[in-house]
Amino acid sequence: MMTLIFCGNRFKYEMENVARLFFPLRRFQFAYDCEPPAGGDFLAFIQTAEGEGARLTVSFREGEYRDNASTFVNQSVRFENDCEEAFARVLYRLLEKKTGVHPRWGILTGIRPVRRMQRAVDSGKSRQDAEEEFRRDFYVSEEKIALAARISILQQPVLRDISPRDFSLYISIPYCPSRCSYCSFVSHSIDHPKARKLIPDYVSHLVKEIDFTSKMARDLGLRLRSVYIGGGTPTVLEAEQLRQITDCVQKAFTPPPDLEYTIEAGRADTITREKLAVIKEAGANRVSINPQTFEDSVLAAVGRRHTANDVVKCYEMAREFDFPSINMDLIAGLPTDTLEGFARSLRKAIDLGPENITVHALSVKRASALFSEMDGSEDYSAVQEMVDLSGRLLPASGYEPYYLYRQKNTIGNLENVGYAKPGHLGLYNIYIMEEVQHILAVGAGGVSKVVMPGRIERVFNYKYPYEYIADFSDILSRKETLRGLLQEVQHGI
Ligand code: SF4
Repeated sequence: MMTLIFCGNRFKYEMENVARLFFPLRRFQFAYDCEPPAGGDFLAFIQTAEGEGARLTVSFREGEYRDNASTFVNQSVRFENDCEEAFARVLYRLLEKKTGVHPRWGILTGIRPVRRMQRAVDSGKSRQDAEEEFRRDFYVSEEKIALAARISILQQPVLRDISPRDFSLYISIPYCPSRCSYCSFVSHSIDHPKARKLIPDYVSHLVKEIDFTSKMARDLGLRLRSVYIGGGTPTVLEAEQLRQITDCVQKAFTPPPDLEYTIEAGRADTITREKLAVIKEAGANRVSINPQTFEDSVLAAVGRRHTANDVVKCYEMAREFDFPSINMDLIAGLPTDTLEGFARSLRKAIDLGPENITVHALSVKRASALFSEMDGSEDYSAVQEMVDLSGRLLPASGYEPYYLYRQKNTIGNLENVGYAKPGHLGLYNIYIMEEVQHILAVGAGGVSKVVMPGRIERVFNYKYPYEYIADFSDILSRKETLRGLLQEVQHGI
């Protein structure tokens, strides 16, 4: 356990994030009384007024090791921000010196580095200056600066083609066949009879919300730019239930044939020929078939009840349906996986040749079963090498990195990167990750986002299917809140 002490400031969130770069699985507690504990490890953030500004001091103790450093920040219009960033830099340098760890994203702990770089460019900075800011102020490594810049440039035509009247539809299916050990998502295993029993009711409410949303979009003159049915695992539904949803989308929105329409088929233990036929008839042109790894022992270790060979069979079946784009997700750093095992998985995915491969760095959230099994001493140094290998091998095999995001508690503070063959960018992924287009979300756990001038407004649906069903009238009234926000944007056009 390490105590983070805040004296004269409240930068808990940012300092915890930076400390976590160096101690990813360490338990932290927080104190605000300025007195370092008599025993135990701590990091203290002390802010005191001095002259025309403030003196910031970070003190560190771990076992017998002690260190501290301080800096001075001048008063300014963004004084609080300056102090926060200065504390982060001092802390970063102290811990870098102690641990020998050099996080590749420096002190950038936000989840959208590409957007940060793009914003700097949009605000009038040259690309060179935007990159220099990453290097000088945030200590980002050269290779990550190059990655963010490359993706930012690639996304330009997509971003230019967005109007304030555009939106994407997200449909949430928060059910899975069983729970993976690393998952913290609110997804319900249909192993539980209670969860399974609710599904028909869930689907019938979902189609009502889709219908309601389509009328609202029509009233407001919005233009549908992509559809994404995700989860969870949408293909955990019976083929007929899936059809109920896709038929409703068809009637409500009449998606044109060239519209990007994605359905996550997800796990091999849910995919059947009959369900793929429903997806094909619906007009979906992107499906995800996610191995996560092609190592059977790793699949078993994370609680997946299928083999790598099952994934290959599903992929071949999907190929027979001639989907224009198939995505495969891989995860670097799964429990029991090794660099060699990950390399085999990556090569296998490349050999199969899906149009998209997305490489996630494992994120261990507190709500996952995996977190409770860990004691903080695990060695994850291979994850960095796995991510590096993906960054070399995929571009060399014709895949271009096209979107990137980071999650909290990702091992090594690494990133998730979507790679695509030319002409196969997943537009929805760019829209959602860069927060550049309205997302109208339906279903339990859905979060609608409205892109307002200078800010994003979110409207949340209930998280759990039982409350979504029980309080459905409230879900529809939240859609009215959404309508109000969208109207506000329209009036500003
Ligand atoms: S398939 Fe995905 S959403 Fe479902 S339990 Fe596994 S990680 Fe979670």
